[in-house]
Amino acid sequence: MMKNVIFIAPPAAGKGTQSSILENLGYVHLSTGDMLRKEINSNSALGNEIKDLVNSGSLVSDDIVIELIQNNLKNLDKPFILDGFPRTLNQAVQLDKLFSELNIDNYEVIYLNLDMESALKRTLGRIVCECGKSYNIYYDDLKPQQEGVCDNCGKNLIKRNDDNEESFKVRFKTYESNTLPIVEYYQNKKKLNEIDATKSSDEVASIIRGIL
Ligand code: AMP
Repeated sequence: MMKNVIFIAPPAAGKGTQSSILENLGYVHLSTGDMLRKEINSNSALGNEIKDLVNSGSLVSDDIVIELIQNNLKNLDKPFILDGFPRTLNQAVQLDKLFSELNIDNYEVIYLNLDMESALKRTLGRIVCECGKSYNIYYDDLKPQQEGVCDNCGKNLIKRNDDNEESFKVRFKTYESNTLPIVEYYQNKKKLNEIDATKSSDEVASIIRGIL
């Protein structure tokens, strides 16, 4: 079986895009961001509680995302991708506990390294479909075939509420202070694979296939 994957990356580095490619190879895509946006769009109690935090680019509490991951990691019969989790050292430690309960050791951490300027440009150019696929109007290889329409399902593409410059700044800062320490954590566990995410999505995808 192919190895499970944990993505660590700044905003818009390509976690979602690479996850879509891996889904086509038989992976289950577990994105805490997608799960939280679904809660927000459904106007659930949880959704209303976290809406302002997510739109402004702040993190929601560790307890909320840990529970989401816990519920989704059970009873999987396919390899999985964790996209957007863990994002804090505490989440990484909690994930280790969960992994040992579930006897999971077959995984690699993929760290998509991207500078702030490129991450900002990608964030501002990103458009997404509610099916989970994302596109970028600034890159020819990431544009939809038909402007504003999803290649996969034909629905209209929209901008995420947090893909503006103000929220981006919060997200990038949060990434540097809360998420980068996890890179060292997984380095010490010999699970870390760093990829230069300024490469094209095809190049990144083929490096990832080599790792898995
Ligand atoms: P993403 O789709 O991964 O960019 O996540 C979008 C937003 O969801 C983040 O900016 C956070 O507000 C929230 N979020 C996603 N994953 C987590 C997490 N692991 N911990 C805390 N907040 C998260």
